[in-house]
Amino acid sequence: MTEHEKAILITGASSGIGEATARRLAADGHRVFLGARRTDRLEELSQEISNDGGTAAFRRLDVTSAEDMRSFVAAGHAEFGRVDVLVNNAGVMPLSPLEALRVDEWDRMLDVNVRGVLHGIAAALPVMRAQGAGHFVNVASTGAYEVVPTAAVYCATKFAVRAISEGLRQESAGGIRVSVVSPGVTESELADSITDPTARDAMTAYRAVALPAAAVADTIAFAVSRPPEVEVNELVVRPAART
Ligand code: NDP
Repeated sequence: MTEHEKAILITGASSGIGEATARRLAADGHRVFLGARRTDRLEELSQEISNDGGTAAFRRLDVTSAEDMRSFVAAGHAEFGRVDVLVNNAGVMPLSPLEALRVDEWDRMLDVNVRGVLHGIAAALPVMRAQGAGHFVNVASTGAYEVVPTAAVYCATKFAVRAISEGLRQESAGGIRVSVVSPGVTESELADSITDPTARDAMTAYRAVALPAAAVADTIAFAVSRPPEVEVNELVVRPAART
């Protein structure tokens, strides 16, 4: 294997940043294994990557299930014989003021954004340990560094992604690398999950200036492409223009 032929598993690859990352890493010569719930999209994307000369496969994945995540990682491992990188990218962002008490949406954010990442670590770490090397790229957010109104729970989940990633980094010397990529506003379907009218209105203005998803994919590709002795821990990427 060269630095350009890694076996890379990507969660949330059916749209936005995950989809762009799959395209980019495949174009860089890596083999990509794609997970999300919308398999029609994964099938289309895998086909597109194959048509362009790349290597891609997919499997339905719900990151909120530890069992499902284990099956996903096992299937990726069976497909490519290795798991060099797991990009924990799947996430949801149904923003609302805390006062609105949308407890179900809080739970969904915790389940996907926090438990999903933990399930990814639980599934892939033993495989990486057995290989003697591996790399987690966890997608957080600028919301992992600051809290804004309507985003308390979402930001809490992203603070958690940073905390978990830093803990994993400290505890896993010897071949296991951990990177956190934190995008600012990026073009994707993420804001579609907002049901609260106050949050939706606030987001329309906030999201007026956005990075293309390919720019975040480029940042992830940078972290992935460092030589084995280099561990990029945190990258924050924002649109240069201000809203
Ligand atoms: P999208 O909504 O376009 O993509 C989210 C992805 O997550 C989809 O592929 C979706 O697939 C997947 N997903 C959601 N729930 C689950 C689940 N239970 N199991 C498996 N996959 C799931 O948004 P983005 O591309 O923007 O989001 C990607 C990551 O980037 C998220 O972690 C988000 O928090 C983060 N981010 C995004 C920013 C932005 O402005 N866009 C800014 C900062 C961070 P499916 O529905 O098919 O399962």
